[in-house]
Amino acid sequence: MRAVVLYQTGDPEVLQYREDIPEPQLQPDEVLVRVRATSLNRVDIVIRRGYPGLELRLPHILGGDIAGEIVECGSAVEHLRPGQRVLVYPIVWCGRCSLCRRGLENLCVNWQYFGMHRAGSYAEYVAVPACCCIELPENVDFAEAACLPIAGLTAFHALVSVAQLQPGETLLLWGASGGMGNFAIQLAKLQGAQVIATTRRYPQLEATLSEWGADFVLPHDPDVVSAKLRELLPDGVDVVLDYVGPSTFPSSFALLRKGGRVVLCGILTGRESMLSLHQTYLRHLTIYGIYLGTLAELKRLLELLATGQLRPAIAERLPLSEAVHAHRLMESSQHVGKLILLP
Ligand SMILES: [Zn+2]
Repeated sequence: MRAVVLYQTGDPEVLQYREDIPEPQLQPDEVLVRVRATSLNRVDIVIRRGYPGLELRLPHILGGDIAGEIVECGSAVEHLRPGQRVLVYPIVWCGRCSLCRRGLENLCVNWQYFGMHRAGSYAEYVAVPACCCIELPENVDFAEAACLPIAGLTAFHALVSVAQLQPGETLLLWGASGGMGNFAIQLAKLQGAQVIATTRRYPQLEATLSEWGADFVLPHDPDVVSAKLRELLPDGVDVVLDYVGPSTFPSSFALLRKGGRVVLCGILTGRESMLSLHQTYLRHLTIYGIYLGTLAELKRLLELLATGQLRPAIAERLPLSEAVHAHRLMESSQHVGKLILLP
């Protein structure tokens, strides 16, 4: 089959497009999915460079977002059939650990993630446990669906389920021009919140972010944002979604109102940051750390997409053979929305 394979970690050039990769072997409870679209996520870049602490089995195929068609079912699969269009939940859970038994499959201690612990979607075919498949309605485009499992699900879990953003509350989003930002803005507006979004490409992207729903668009400079927010919201913001890390966390923390909450779901600028324990309790602050979300949340997101309440912004649709170019584009952060690969 066709696939983009990593034989070593490093720069984008280590991504090798091949046409002679063996198709995956199916386990009895798995289906073989012909991938029709996948999308890039920051984690793909981190894994390609060599994720610290992750023992990557090489050769490896990246990619966690899978939208496609079932072409073959394992012997134990009963409720699916070849020809069905599916969207794939990106976590494979064990079903046996104490967290799985409590219905928290997203927190499974034995979790496997497509493109990290298992072969991913930068390929013509991928083997997927049947329980991860969600039927994809005919009116949903494969490329739009492929934007949901990582970026959309993380934004949904963070804002709707964990922070439980309420009508009239305020949300600050750092660096909102990518896929996560696009979903976070739209989901926050669906919750009835007011959104303040930043972008490094200010003022060029001001109109785009406003069109997605942002109420205020500011340059991505913590000092400018702090000054502007003290004027706009003297008591502070209710919720901050921070996937940037140490370069923004001190400001995220300082800008929260009393009783505010910050949701951390990424570390693009480092792994550690200082935190004032004194301020945390004195101001009744809540800090959440999350990644991805639950299968039920992904189903809910797909409903929002199928009913036209969510519109993923797609930067470019590229053939799988252009994976190196797609990674360079993502690293340069010059795209707006999601980058799609079509295997
Ligand atoms: Zn488990």
